[in-house]
Amino acid sequence: MKIIELKIGGMTCPSCSASVERLVDELGGVESKKINHVSDSGKIEFNEDVISAEEIIAKINEGHYKVMGFEDIENKRDIPTCPICNHSGQLVPNTVFRSNLKPDAFEEINLESKNYICLNPQCDIAYYNDNQTIDSSGLKRVIWFKTSSKKKTICYCNNIDREQIKEAVEIHNLTTWEEITSHYRKKVIEKCEVLNPTGLCCRNTFGKVVSKFNPD
Ligand SMILES: [Zn+2]
Repeated sequence: MKIIELKIGGMTCPSCSASVERLVDELGGVESKKINHVSDSGKIEFNEDVISAEEIIAKINEGHYKVMGFEDIENKRDIPTCPICNHSGQLVPNTVFRSNLKPDAFEEINLESKNYICLNPQCDIAYYNDNQTIDSSGLKRVIWFKTSSKKKTICYCNNIDREQIKEAVEIHNLTTWEEITSHYRKKVIEKCEVLNPTGLCCRNTFGKVVSKFNPD
């Protein structure tokens, strides 16, 4: 049995949390769930032989709500640090690798193992597991928070970078993810669990970047 804690964005009332619970109920292997719209959080206990955290997140993302982050609370203490820089890392769902790694690196990475992203901006390591590291040369698209990355993509689904957000806020007075993505893209897509190199929804980071350019 496994327990994960989720940060879920977009819930405003009890019927929101009830609707997230209904989505989760459609999945097999979930033993218990507690979704709280006040704290924007959820706690889900599940059988990992039947279902994965990635599948649960993808299911929740089908609704109007988005998973902003998750933590494997049972194994939280056991997250290994980056073998190169010793900085902390974060578990990433395997769903991200096909779209974010070059074919050679994708072939090489062990998907049976848990894979982590190195959160140190100065370190060139993108992903690591117990006995592998993948540096930036294995990436199809750069990871925005690494200092060596010239392009600071914030929304990977719609390929929108920091400069575009700045322009949208300062010149066009747009402030929400919806307004800004649809300003740049005719067809807005949302598939962060596949396209974002962290596997997590971009809205959290997106909001922080917007508020940087929109102080009020
Ligand atoms: Zn590192």
